[in-house]
Amino acid sequence: MPHQPHTLTRLGDFDPAEFTIYAYCGACGHSAAVDPEKVGRDVEVRTLPARLRCAECGSRECSIRIVYTGAGEFEYREG
Ligand SMILES: [Zn+2]
Repeated sequence: MPHQPHTLTRLGDFDPAEFTIYAYCGACGHSAAVDPEKVGRDVEVRTLPARLRCAECGSRECSIRIVYTGAGEFEYREG
C-alpha cells in the first residue's frame, strides 16, 4: 500500500483533537464515535471493523470512517 501514509495505522496515531473515528452499522445504520482509549490505542485501524459489534442491533457488519475535525473551522483565503 505505497499510497497510504504508514504513520497513521493505529488508533493511537490519530490525535483525538484532530480526528474522530466513527463506526457505522451496515445493518441498521447506527453510528457512534469510537473511543481510542476504550478500544486500545495499539489496535490497527484496518482490523477495527472486525472487532466492532453494533450496540443497537448486535450486527457485526460494521465499517469505520475517520473524520478530520482539525482546528474545527475551515480556513478561508482570499485569492
Ligand atoms: Zn446495528
